Amino acid sequence: MGLFIMRKEKTDENELLQIGIMGGTFDPIHYGHLVAAEAVRDKFNLQKVIFVPAGNPPHKKEKNLSNKMHRYLMTLLATASNTFFEVSTNETDKQGYTYTVDTIKQFHQQFNGKAKFYFITGADALNEILTWKDVDCLFKICEFVAATRPGFKHEQLLDNIQYLTKKYDGKIHFVEIPSLAISSTDIRLKVANDISVKYLLPEVVETYIYKNGLYSNQLNS
Ligand code: NAP
Repeated sequence: MGLFIMRKEKTDENELLQIGIMGGTFDPIHYGHLVAAEAVRDKFNLQKVIFVPAGNPPHKKEKNLSNKMHRYLMTLLATASNTFFEVSTNETDKQGYTYTVDTIKQFHQQFNGKAKFYFITGADALNEILTWKDVDCLFKICEFVAATRPGFKHEQLLDNIQYLTKKYDGKIHFVEIPSLAISSTDIRLKVANDISVKYLLPEVVETYIYKNGLYSNQLNS
């Protein structure tokens, strides 16, 4: 009697790797981001969290973003000591505008369909999700984790996503991160005004900022 091997048509949900995708401009990365990524990794039992410094996000057209190589290198330095953290060049390698939907599709390809993705970012950023490219598709290919600052009012975000979550069965989780009281904008302004940023971000990132003269001419956010 010949051996009959049954092939599985689809990977079982339980066999999928659970991967966090930490999206942000990281200009600069700070302890709020790092604590958020670690808290989400722990809460959702993620095998790893991949930080993705935004390449050329369309919503930042008029803003004075730091060079993407600086933002990538600061993210690499900040995450080096955590074995669960990685940094991806998926967006910084691209020319032209970068969109989260394309980034998540790229990760699905890179993991050969064997991973489930949680896109982690600031709740303020997710407030604008209705304006993002192919948001209906995004809800199908990842779940979202909104990192909130203490006192963040969920109502607007919940209103924004209500019909999308109903229509596409999308999922958004909220995780409150007290240390997200730290903000990149505040750090840039402090550096510009010669105010100490010690203990707001890893020392190695602080050193990188001063060595490369970042934010010294910053007038506002
Ligand atoms: P942002 O508008 O600069 O940030 C909004 C708020 O969220 C800020 O308070 C910011 O604090 C916070 N934040 C940003 N990233 C965070 C993170 N990973 N963890 C915790 N807090 C975070 O947002 P952004 O950084 O440009 O964009 C966030 C992500 O959404 C990026 O991956 C971006 O590519 C994506 N996005 C995609 C589209 C699209 O596909 N069309 C449009 C907009 C955004 P800090 O300033 O302290 O970081």
